[in-house]
Amino acid sequence: MQELLERKKGLHRSILIVDDEFVEREMLGAMLSDLYEIKFAENGALALDIIRQNKLTLSLIILDLYMPELDGYSLLKIIRADVELRRIPVIVLTAEKGAEVKSLQLGAADFITKPYDAPDVIRARVGHSIELAEGSIIIHETERDSLTGLFNREFFFEYGKRLDAQNNIPMDAIVLDVNRFHMINELYGRAYGDLILKKIGNSIHEFVCRTGGLAARSGSNTFGIYIPHLDNPNEELAKYIAAINEDMGGQKISVRIGIYSDDGTPKDMEQRFDCARLTCRKLRNSYETTYDFYNAELHVKELHEERLISDMDRALSEKQFKVFYQPKYSITGDKPVITSAEALVRWFHPEFGMVSPGQFISLFENNGLIHKLDRYVWNEAAAQIRLWKEKYGKYIPVSVNVSRVDVFNPKLCEILNDVTGINGLSNDKLLLEITESAYTDNAQQIIDTIQNLRNNGFKIEMDDFGCGYSSLNMLTALPIDALKLDMKFIRNICNDKKDYRLVGIMIEIARLLEVPVIAEGVETKEQMELLKAIGCDIIQGYYFSKPLPADEFEKLIEA
Ligand code: C2E
Ligand code: CA
Ligand code: CA
Repeated sequence: MQELLERKKGLHRSILIVDDEFVEREMLGAMLSDLYEIKFAENGALALDIIRQNKLTLSLIILDLYMPELDGYSLLKIIRADVELRRIPVIVLTAEKGAEVKSLQLGAADFITKPYDAPDVIRARVGHSIELAEGSIIIHETERDSLTGLFNREFFFEYGKRLDAQNNIPMDAIVLDVNRFHMINELYGRAYGDLILKKIGNSIHEFVCRTGGLAARSGSNTFGIYIPHLDNPNEELAKYIAAINEDMGGQKISVRIGIYSDDGTPKDMEQRFDCARLTCRKLRNSYETTYDFYNAELHVKELHEERLISDMDRALSEKQFKVFYQPKYSITGDKPVITSAEALVRWFHPEFGMVSPGQFISLFENNGLIHKLDRYVWNEAAAQIRLWKEKYGKYIPVSVNVSRVDVFNPKLCEILNDVTGINGLSNDKLLLEITESAYTDNAQQIIDTIQNLRNNGFKIEMDDFGCGYSSLNMLTALPIDALKLDMKFIRNICNDKKDYRLVGIMIEIARLLEVPVIAEGVETKEQMELLKAIGCDIIQGYYFSKPLPADEFEKLIEA
């Protein structure tokens, strides 16, 4: 029984016999084939192929030193220099005493002299070498992730860097993450989660066997793959994804893959992986297996945006944000007269200079920072209205932009009341511009919000009208005080009949709603006159003035 067990155990192991002489190969094979699975190679070059293909499963190599093509010494050197191959013990076959010493120096585990001793002796030597090597695998295991057999993070980077130092060839970095892995664990249990990770680990094993390179698992469900640059990565990945999908056999498990494909810019391993990780992270909302390549331009943009986000608080406290004012002129009388102004924010960044709102408004809308900025701008604008009242003895109403995100803040009205209250203004002096597209997000909520603001005395201007998709039906239900036509219709009004007619229709709608029409983005006299002719009430645009700092705006008031 014991013997049977031993034999069974032995059978799982495989040995490669490398010898150019057929008879010798077969003799050795015959001595060992009852205990081990035997592979043969007749020269060093063929042997190396087999070793690379079976680097994870080979237990031992028996190597003749003198062979054509690649001789045993050279092969031994290659094996010992390769981080992934060197764990495989090598026994050399030799007929001379001198060769024994040299081969042991090169790192052979043992030697067998020709002509062969008794089979028992050979089996003992083979068994002993394997045992010793497996003992040292325990050390090797500290380098490995026990679940998948891939490297752990620490050794992955260590060996990867060594690989770079030795070879200095272009390398690609790939980061693979399992989508919603915590859900898999929670829903199906840890054992199942482990099984999935093992499957993925195996697929990565196979991938790396094909391409060369190293792989690791780091964290619970993240894998890193470091491979020589792929010329046709799309093809390789498509193959890999097909394989993994098949492996998962209909289970609803998907992965995301971020790839840094070497483009020749000098980067070390860690930088390559930073890029791959970032790309992978961007795919985190996907439900299907997807991959994407790192894009340097996008990265620069994202870094810039991250900078703006992290600089924002400080910018607020240091008053780097300045509010500019663009006048709105009433054109219903003989001469245009200033009726109000729109407050438009600019960021004077200590490093980037003037940053326009186009660069940061939607960014801040996406992460909620817009609340703070808008509140700041509203307050500045309200303070300015107060100041001008004191200086000129009359109110110049200013409209502020209210982001679509603000509209969903249940405290919006309270905040605005504070802003006007603190600056001693009645609410009708601070006009509120709300973009039309906000109205379509959640119609009822916005109608309620706006109704409430109006009940509190605020005046509402619907901004960018014509751009969103308000239904005519909804428009009549909407409580608003002015319509502001989207700039893009004004741009071509003089030479595009359709735009001209559209503007006409929008003005009609405003008549129907009994509210004045504001046209913004008016740049030329022709545009202004055309708009006047078809009944537009108020004009804002470069034709009259660009947005100006408060002190320059004062010159317009004084004139
Ligand atoms: P908007 O509310 O539609 O503002 C009008 C934009 O058109 C402004 O761009 C203004 O400078 C520009 N403009 C005015 N007249 C002309 C013209 O004749 N020709 C051209 N080509 N452009 C003209 P700006 O200041 O870059 O602001 C862009 C957008 O950023 C604004 O669009 C608004 O949606 C947003 N924004 C600006 N300040 C704030 C703010 O304090 N809070 C919020 N939430 N959004 C703001
Ligand atoms: Ca506006
Ligand atoms: Ca607008």
